Amino acid sequence: MLLLATAWAPSLYSGAFRFSDSMGVDVVTHPRGYTGMGGILPVSIGIDPTSTHADAMVQPVLNIVDTINALVPSTGNLLSDAGVPGDSYDFESVALHEVLHSLGLAHPNAGKESGLEGAERNYTRATKGTNGWFDLNAGRDGVIGSGDDQRGDDVNLHWFRQSNNNPFTMAAIVDSTTYSRDAANLPAGHAFATNGDRTIGNLLGVVSTEAVMRQGAARGEAQRSLAHDDVATLRYAMSGLDELEGNQDDYTIELTYAGRTTSADIVLDFDNRVDFAGSHVNTILPLTDTHFSIHSSAVVLFNEDWPWFFSGGVQNP
Ligand SMILES: [Zn+2]
Repeated sequence: MLLLATAWAPSLYSGAFRFSDSMGVDVVTHPRGYTGMGGILPVSIGIDPTSTHADAMVQPVLNIVDTINALVPSTGNLLSDAGVPGDSYDFESVALHEVLHSLGLAHPNAGKESGLEGAERNYTRATKGTNGWFDLNAGRDGVIGSGDDQRGDDVNLHWFRQSNNNPFTMAAIVDSTTYSRDAANLPAGHAFATNGDRTIGNLLGVVSTEAVMRQGAARGEAQRSLAHDDVATLRYAMSGLDELEGNQDDYTIELTYAGRTTSADIVLDFDNRVDFAGSHVNTILPLTDTHFSIHSSAVVLFNEDWPWFFSGGVQNP
C-alpha cells in the first residue's frame, strides 16, 4: 500500500523526520529505495536538463553528493566569507537543505509550516498536543528552542541525544540506545529537546553553527557542511527498522550524480511553482507502523527570480 503524501517541505519549510506531523510522532522516514534490507542504499541526484542555470548547478550538486556521503559533522558551518555576494542566496547551501528533505529529514524547528510567526518559528519542532495550540515559553534563559523551554502538552518531534540534549555534539553510536524523541528520556533538569538553531549554539558556546535542516537561508551566507544534528538524524534512520546500529537492516546512503536527467531519485529544477525552494514527494511507502520510505522521485524546485550564487563562482548566470 502506498500512501499519498502530497507533502511539500515548504521553503524557508535534524533532528526530525518528514511526515512525523501527519503519520505519527515516532515516525522515522527513510530515503527512496529502503525496504528494510541493509547495506549500501544508492540514491541518485539529477538536474532537469531544461532547468534554468543547469550548467551552474553541476558543481554545487557534485559538492552536495560528497558532503552527504562523507557524513562528517562540523561546527562553524555558517560562513559569511565564502564569496557569496551580500544580495544573493547560496545555491549549494539551499540545495543541501532540500536534498536532505528529499532523503526524509524535516526541520528541527517549528518553521513556517507551524503557522507561527517570527522568532516563534525557532521553537523546537513539536505537535500542538491535546489542547490544540502550541504552548510557547522560552524558559528562564529566554532563548527559544533551548532545553529549559516550557512546552505544556506539546509533543516533541525532535530526536535528541539522551546524554546531553546538545545537538552540536553526536554520540559514537546513533540509535535508540543513545537518541530519543520521548521527552521522558531527556537528561535531568531538561524540560524539552534543544534544536540546532544558531542562537542556541551561541548559548552553548558553539558559535557560527547551525543545523542545515534548520529552516531559513540568509543572503550572503554559505552553509555547505553538515552540523552534528544533521548527521545524527541521518544516522538514526540508517540504524534501520530496529533502530539499533550494528544489525542487518542498517544501511549507508550512497549518493551519486546522475547527470542531466529527470530519471533520478532526486531531481533539481528551477521552476517558479515555489516562492523560494522546496522538496516535493508524492508518495511514501509504509514499512512498519512507524517506518516509512520515500516512494516517488523527489522533486526539488527553486524560484529563479531570486539572486542566486553558484559555488564555483558563478552568480546569476
Ligand atoms: Zn526546509
